Amino acid sequence: MRNLVVHVTPEMIRHSRILDVLYFVAFVYGAVVLYFLLRSGLSMRLRDVAARVTRKRLIIAMLYYALLTLAMVALEFPLTFYRGFVVPHQFDLTSQSFASWMGDFAKAVGVNIAILAPIAAVALLIMGRVRRWWIVLWLASIPLIILGVVMTPLIIDPLFNKFEPLRDPILRRDLLAEAGKAGIEGSRVYQVNKSKQTKTMNAYMTGLGPSKRIVLYDTLLAKLDHDEIIATMGHEMGHYVLHHLWKGIAFGVVVSFFGFFVAQIFYERGLARWRLTDRADPAALPWLLLIASVITFALSPVDSGFSRHIEHQADKFGLDLTRLNEATASSFVKFAEDSKVDPNPPRFIEWWRYSHPAAQRRIDFALSYRPWELSLAPHQSAQVYRIGGDVKAPIVISRAEPQIPTNSHCRGHIVLKSVIDAHGNPSQIQDLTLQPDVFTHAFANALQHWKFQPATLNGKPVPVEYIVTVNIHCR
Ligand SMILES: [Zn+2]
Repeated sequence: MRNLVVHVTPEMIRHSRILDVLYFVAFVYGAVVLYFLLRSGLSMRLRDVAARVTRKRLIIAMLYYALLTLAMVALEFPLTFYRGFVVPHQFDLTSQSFASWMGDFAKAVGVNIAILAPIAAVALLIMGRVRRWWIVLWLASIPLIILGVVMTPLIIDPLFNKFEPLRDPILRRDLLAEAGKAGIEGSRVYQVNKSKQTKTMNAYMTGLGPSKRIVLYDTLLAKLDHDEIIATMGHEMGHYVLHHLWKGIAFGVVVSFFGFFVAQIFYERGLARWRLTDRADPAALPWLLLIASVITFALSPVDSGFSRHIEHQADKFGLDLTRLNEATASSFVKFAEDSKVDPNPPRFIEWWRYSHPAAQRRIDFALSYRPWELSLAPHQSAQVYRIGGDVKAPIVISRAEPQIPTNSHCRGHIVLKSVIDAHGNPSQIQDLTLQPDVFTHAFANALQHWKFQPATLNGKPVPVEYIVTVNIHCR
């Protein structure tokens, strides 16, 4: 028997609340650090130190960026340490030693400086020379982001962990079959020794073009059973097949267009406040970072909402592909219990910062989403009414268009029977067409997303039987 109910513990709730509070505290703390760097004159002093070493502007800016990063890392260290080391140990989510954690942390800081110092220096150069620099920086950010996504799995990730093809031969065989069904190459599935850093499990899709791949934590391989792994992979394959990384980049590019525009306005208006005159002065970088962090923070709900939408699409894809409803749900139960995260977070918290729908929502969906069962004629409950007499018919509020495969043949007439429940949602869709095919399937799928003003009996909403007929005209 699979466990389909999350066992919610007080520890889980406490852990979730700590993470929620830390999320907001980290934003404020980071902003305060940047404010302090500007206000105290420390930023200007770091720039003077860099300027004493060389006279080349590009080198000064790079040196300054390195010094600034080290200053920020030092000032933020108490919070970074508490969040990254103390909390995961307190809740028994990791067994990584302090030395190993520190090693990863130092490496990450080094990588950050090596990659971003030249980028920051060139950005400052552009800001000094171009009047509307926000457009140039925005345009330049596009190839940089793409390059970053392509290169990260090839160069950065292997600095921290070991990636290798899946070891388990049976799992490998079944994943290859699943990948074939989803239309992707199975050789793109890797496992990674994440147990080095965490006891929690995860899987993710990353990279673009030649580096596109699906990665499974070794912890996940140890804790999920065969079907749960297949179900999780179905979700990841959804990200892969539905081009979610490209969509994410496109979304980010559109949103950052407005971000860069607003950033320039605030940046130039505020420079004098910090007694800075040259907008290309490296010492003003914390001001730009402060503006960027406020804009990013304010846009969190937009970003999270987009991410939750994509994650839901991937959940749906995985279920369509595997039809493993219970294994999918039980994997979500394990994810929630394993990472000790509240499956029912406060609505505001989910809306603001959750990249995935809350666990309970995903579990409910996984258990109820079975469009392929529509021709199996599920039994009807007794209280479904027939339209007519005192029972007023439901009214369509919104329709979803069916997704019809372009290469399919035309056919004539579709009849679907469904129950429109008291909330106006279609359920128990049955296909009454004599020879069901891709068309009826597409229409039945679309009907699920229709929204009705519910039928009423004496003014009270009631569920009713509802028949939809569609005629298709061939051209
Ligand atoms: Zn996902």
